[in-house]
Amino acid sequence: MKPSPSSSSSPPMALETTTDDRLHLSDELDENGFPVGPLSSSSFDDGGGERRDDPQIETSIASTSDFASDFYRCGTDWSSLLEEPPAGKEIRGLVQRDLFQMWGIKKPADGWGSGSGVSYSSRKRRRTMIGGVGGGDCVDQEVPQLERMGFDRGSDRHPVCPFYKKIPGTPFTVDAFRYGPIEGCSAYFLSHFHHDHYGGLSKKWSHGPIYCTPLTARLVKLCLSINSLYICPLELDTEHVIEGTKVTLLEANHCPGAALIHFRLSNGQIHLHTGDFRACKQMQSYPLLLNHRINVLYLDTTYCNPKYRFPPKEDVVNFIVRTARKCLEKQPKTLIAVGAYSIGKEHVYVSISQALEVPIYTDSSRRRILQSFGWPELSRKLCSCGQSSPLHVLPISFLRHENLCEYLNTYKQQFAAVLAFRPTGWTYSGTTLDLIKPSSKGNITLYGVPYSEHSSFIELRDFVKFLKPHKIIPTVNVGNPTNREKMQAYFREWLKA
Ligand SMILES: [Zn+2]
Repeated sequence: MKPSPSSSSSPPMALETTTDDRLHLSDELDENGFPVGPLSSSSFDDGGGERRDDPQIETSIASTSDFASDFYRCGTDWSSLLEEPPAGKEIRGLVQRDLFQMWGIKKPADGWGSGSGVSYSSRKRRRTMIGGVGGGDCVDQEVPQLERMGFDRGSDRHPVCPFYKKIPGTPFTVDAFRYGPIEGCSAYFLSHFHHDHYGGLSKKWSHGPIYCTPLTARLVKLCLSINSLYICPLELDTEHVIEGTKVTLLEANHCPGAALIHFRLSNGQIHLHTGDFRACKQMQSYPLLLNHRINVLYLDTTYCNPKYRFPPKEDVVNFIVRTARKCLEKQPKTLIAVGAYSIGKEHVYVSISQALEVPIYTDSSRRRILQSFGWPELSRKLCSCGQSSPLHVLPISFLRHENLCEYLNTYKQQFAAVLAFRPTGWTYSGTTLDLIKPSSKGNITLYGVPYSEHSSFIELRDFVKFLKPHKIIPTVNVGNPTNREKMQAYFREWLKA
């Protein structure tokens, strides 16, 4: 019996923490990162915790009103905006008290106005937050422990939706499905089909319409069996008016179906939520980004640190193809394995398939997902027999020497060696690609390649400098004040002049 990574003979592997996906399996997902449900009979129970492809989870679980207060207290220009502006001094853009209003965080009896947009319903939670903002004793003694921990009393103990997932001035949230029904939210946007963004969605969903791209809509329906009545696909590059706000989805250069979400409010304010994205030059020609100033940018800050440098995806793909060719010249009976988690990284194995003129083998769960993309060229390349192709797509967590050795053994009639690629943004030291050293053991060669579907630091910088938004709200790695402080310092630098 083949030790197929999806078979019961092959238990799930402990997860690497070195990939740019930084994922942890949960019992909701199979080892490919797809929901365990209609698509897969695989069941895994010890994958090592909750799985995600960016650090938002830590904030979503721990996202309480304390997060917001901590965010504002972190000593950056956010907190400075708490002060009243000097008399006569002009304030450009949005000021902090406006942000408080926008997020519905009200400070009682301080003359800051009544607030607007989506509002927190819990008076007690609000008091907790304001206490934190004021820098004093931040927990109101009246607030029960449960609420202080971020759970709504009487709402199935859902975590509280973090403020940065709400679009102020609208009844919209983005990627906020784990919080139960969110008061004031009548439209739930899903930026893309990665678990840390759609987490919380299930076939029981009934809290409101879900807006996303048509491809994401197909995945939501196929994988999660959401009632079609709730799924609202929006074509890319088309303006839609939803609840009085003009909404346009733009290609995000992340995984298939991923979108940037552009909101133009009736009052003229423009908010751009990047979801997860990899910024690129092409985005600088998007008419909506070219012609109108963004007021608030919700930014995927996964790699907002100068240490994260990686080359363009095309360069990495060329390196992979070059390496595969060389290897095949030396050993024609080489099995090429590409690691992938959930959706994303398709370009890597499609490019190998094209260059070597071989089909792509992967398990039935992934095949059905890939077929749902509606990309005929990709669908044509898929095959269902591992012996029929030297190119196999495997769960990224499966790419370990011992697993690959065992895997090769089951194909020993066809293959004599394995060349495996693990695409990640984390393994790059900034040297040239050709200096990347594989890890080799016997007839197994394993490369970590810097193929990232998030922006590098430089790409983030260039995007922000191009966009010149009034405000930037980081959405990833916001869990601790030091990170936020550093990011805000970068933002200030980028927005100078
Ligand atoms: Zn993602």
